[in-house]
Formats: sequence, C-alpha cells, structure tokens
Amino acid sequence: MKTNELKKLIKNFDTNIVYNADLKKKNWFNIGGKAKVFFKANELKDLIEFLKILDNKEKIHIIGAGSNTLITDEIYDGVVIKLGKNFSRLSVLNSNIIISGAAVLDKKLAEFAANNSLGGFEFLACIPGTIGGGIRMNAGCFDREIKDILVSIQAIDKKGNVLTIPAKEINFDYRNNNLSEDLIFLSASFKGEKQDTRKIIETMTELKEKKENNQPSKIKTGGSTFKNPTKKTTKKAWELIEESVPANTKFGDACISEKHSNFFVNKGNATFNDMKRLINFVEESVFKKTGVNIEKEIKILEN
Ligand SMILES: Cc1cc2nc3c(=O)[nH]c(=O)nc-3n(C[C@H](O)[C@H](O)[C@H](O)COP(=O)(O)OP(=O)(O)OC[C@H]3O[C@@H](n4cnc5c(N)ncnc54)[C@H](O)[C@@H]3O)c2cc1C
Repeated sequence: MKTNELKKLIKNFDTNIVYNADLKKKNWFNIGGKAKVFFKANELKDLIEFLKILDNKEKIHIIGAGSNTLITDEIYDGVVIKLGKNFSRLSVLNSNIIISGAAVLDKKLAEFAANNSLGGFEFLACIPGTIGGGIRMNAGCFDREIKDILVSIQAIDKKGNVLTIPAKEINFDYRNNNLSEDLIFLSASFKGEKQDTRKIIETMTELKEKKENNQPSKIKTGGSTFKNPTKKTTKKAWELIEESVPANTKFGDACISEKHSNFFVNKGNATFNDMKRLINFVEESVFKKTGVNIEKEIKILEN
C-alpha cells in the first residue's frame, strides 16, 4: 500500500505512529534504513484497534530488542510494531508461576525470578533479547531453552483476535517452533522451582562469566548467525566456519568475530549488503568445503 493510502487508513489513529522511522538504532547490528510506518504499542487496546484498522492489508513485522535481526537499508515497505510499556510487566502467581509481558528483557525475567526465589530461569540472564523474541526463537543456552519453563502464551493475530495457547500444544524445536508467523506474542507464563535466591544468583553469575569468556560482548552483532546442525555427529556451526572460511574475511565493515566465528560483527559502518554478502559467502564456503548446509539463525527483514 502507498504511504498516502496507509496514512488515510490510519488517519484517526495517531497513537505513537512514526512515518519513515529510523530502524538503525532498533537492532544490535546497528544496521538498517527506515520503516514506512513504526508503531510503538504501549497498550493492548491500542494494538487491537490498530490491527483491526489495518485489517491485514499491510505487511507487519514485530521487533523485540532486535538482537537477532538484520534489517534492510532500504525503506521497509510495511509496518514495524514494537511492544511498549504495558507489555513490560512481571508478576508472580501461585508462588511458582511468573507472568511476563513479551517486551520484558530475558535478563530482567531472570533477575525477577531470582528475587522471587524461583530457579530455572538462570540461563535467560545470558540472552540479550525480549521474551517475545525468545519465544519465537525458542532461545536458549547451556542446555536450557525457553520451552523448558514455558506454561502458556497469550498472543494476538493480525486481525486483532487475542488467544491463549498452552505450551503443550506447541511443537518446539531447536531455535524454532510451529507457531504461526501471523502471531504477535503479548505475554507468557513460566513455571519455576522454589530455590534459595543466593544459590540462583550464584548460578546466574557463573553462566554469565562462562558466556563472556566464550563469546564476544559489547559489539554490534546479532549473536549466532547460523544454527548448529542438529545431527549429533556433525560439528558445530563455528567449527564448520572456522575450517571453511579465512578468519579475516570481510565485506566493507562486516567481519567475523575473532572470539567466535559464528558471530558476525559490524565494525563501524557496515551496510545491510556488506553483512548479507558475508553471510552468503560463509554459507556457500561451508557447503563447498564440508558439504554441510548450515541454516541461518538470524532473521532478515527486507522487502
Ligand atoms: C551478543 C548476543 C548473544 C546472544 N546469545 C544468544 C544465546 O545464547 N542463545 C540464544 O538463543 N540466542 C542468543 N542471541 C540471539 C538473540 O538474543 C535471541 O534470538 C533473542 O531471543 C531474540 O530476541 P529479540 O527480542 O532481540 O528478537 P528480535 O531480534 O527483535 O526478533 C527475532 C524474531 O522474533 C520475532 N519477535 C520478536 N518479538 C516478538 C513478539 N512479541 N511476538 C512475535 N514475534 C516476535 C521477530 O519478528 C523475529 O522473527 C544472542 C544475540 C546477541 C546479540
């Protein structure tokens, strides 16, 4: 839909709408152009109204912390939605269930669980995304994944209908699940185990140290670019990359991290095309050298 038509369609809806909104600062790579429309949804009622007005007539992309997303330098020809204030809440129910808004950062949920003496969430302290992104990706580390603690999710479809889905009805896979791409996750409930707060914080600190020792931090990256092959006999993605691609490979300012070869880095002013060329080059080189087809973990937002 042309911007003018879209403007007309949403003319009576002016809550937190930005036209031609900058996306570069909304992702960890620090790469990207603009979105035709950006909507920060602070309240469920606004989100429902907005989706009902749009009535599925426009492409919609939901962004969390952007820690796993590479964004086009062109103007994204659609609507980008980010969840705000009312989706950032945390509460405890029946002493061992935590309800978390989808905009809550994973590490905030881990800290909240620790403060409420609930164990099982420690791994989330090492993942920089939001709960919404974590559910979509079935994010995890140190042999734990979101699915291990998830009880149910609340979501909204692109027509504005809200639904609750029990975790047992979802098929989770490694960094994947069978939930429709049409759903925006609003909140989720998680189950923890009563444990001593001090012990939980100790575990969290240990995991964070381990992660910092093995993976780069404080850089412009999207985390693991490729999934590890799931066949137990196959090497990890970083090993395959290390043996197939020279470590100093770079396209513009897009290069491979010296600390972890599955982490790609924007050294300064990498463009979307620089990063995409690096990703494609690595994928092809690994296949040529090892015969293994590595699958992207990174989500790419382009027209
Ligand atoms: C330094 C670093 C370390 C990392 N380490 C790990 C790790 O150890 N383990 C791991 O699993 N990942 C890791 N990641 C990747 C990333 O943090 C996770 O995939 C995270 O779950 C993404 O969350 P996000 O909110 O940033 O999602 P985004 O990047 O914003 O989005 C990712 C996907 O989720 C979808 N999405 C986001 N919010 C919602 C929502 N509310 N409803 C529906 N869909 C939604 C988006 O549309 C997109 O498809 C790392 C990334 C970085 C930068």
